[in-house]
Amino acid sequence: MKNMTQKENKLDPKQSSSAMTVCPECGKETDKTVKNVCPECFGKKLKLFDLPEVLHARICQRCGAHYYKSKWEDMGTPEEVAMLTAEEHLAIPDTIDNVTVGMHPHARSPYIFDVLVDVGGDVDDVTYYQNGKTEVRIKREACEMCSRRAGGYFEGIIQIRANNRTPTKEEVMDALKLVEESMLAQLKKGDKLAFVTDTMTFKDGADVYIGSTKAGKHVCKHIIEVMGGTVTESYTLAGMKDGKDIYRTTFAMKLPEFKKGDVVYFEDKVIEIKNCGKRVTGINLMNSSNFFIEGEHFKNTKLLGNTANAKETVLVSVEEHGIQILDPETFETITIQKPMGFNALPGSEIKVFKTEYGIFAL
Ligand SMILES: [Zn+2]
Ligand SMILES: [Zn+2]
Repeated sequence: MKNMTQKENKLDPKQSSSAMTVCPECGKETDKTVKNVCPECFGKKLKLFDLPEVLHARICQRCGAHYYKSKWEDMGTPEEVAMLTAEEHLAIPDTIDNVTVGMHPHARSPYIFDVLVDVGGDVDDVTYYQNGKTEVRIKREACEMCSRRAGGYFEGIIQIRANNRTPTKEEVMDALKLVEESMLAQLKKGDKLAFVTDTMTFKDGADVYIGSTKAGKHVCKHIIEVMGGTVTESYTLAGMKDGKDIYRTTFAMKLPEFKKGDVVYFEDKVIEIKNCGKRVTGINLMNSSNFFIEGEHFKNTKLLGNTANAKETVLVSVEEHGIQILDPETFETITIQKPMGFNALPGSEIKVFKTEYGIFAL
């Protein structure tokens, strides 16, 4: 009872048809009794709830995590944390029925809140209301995960490289952006170790030190979905903790050898690459047919260029199977294969790609 901050006692006796009796405590006549006394006398003794005068809450000033039920967990505003803390410590006896609780936080300072509490509940069909107040003092500190992060903790390394080539700066930036995106998604899903401890970029790619191996798997999957490529995981013993071996995971990511739009010579075909991951898809520019092959069999290839560097030239005439164009370099009129679904009109400019295996209209 000592922490009780009861302010008032109202009551709302429901209509009753029972006969009038005399209250043994105050001597007043009453048509309704609660535990053998009149509702007013019962209300004076009743304590609807118990709530400490001062409560303490802890939040992480780095990530906003809230220490709740012995765990760093839910995130919320300091105001929400104050209410949750008051709610957690609000004790209402089981003997009260139809309990209603209202909470109204008032900030005294950014980290000190008065939380006003209104509780309603029934005893023997009489509804009582009481209110009270608690002060929630919020302490800002670093949660376990943020401490680890600040301490350079990492469980894995994602190595971003490209297969048989050096990735472009843009590709590395794109991949790092995907790492961030995917890490944030994992953090939101509750993996508190889903953070990047450190990123190092090199001429041939980047190494990303990550807090969570589990998140690392998601990150690599996400990069492969968007950019293609492969990943190989390996483990190294990093020490012991509580008698258990601690392993670190290295995710060796390889972005695909070819990018979208690369034109590649492979087994007497000239292929414009659409997608190059576990499976390579593209268009055979020699006959406009779709091309696909498992990535592991896409070997002995020769990169001829990228369609981003295609040249514009004049379409001279269109025949049944071929089209006449001006060679973009020599300006001679030549006949080349007509692509499937070709519908440009003579005299217009079209894009062509010149290779040592011929000129192809795109
Ligand atoms: Zn009474
Ligand atoms: Zn934190």
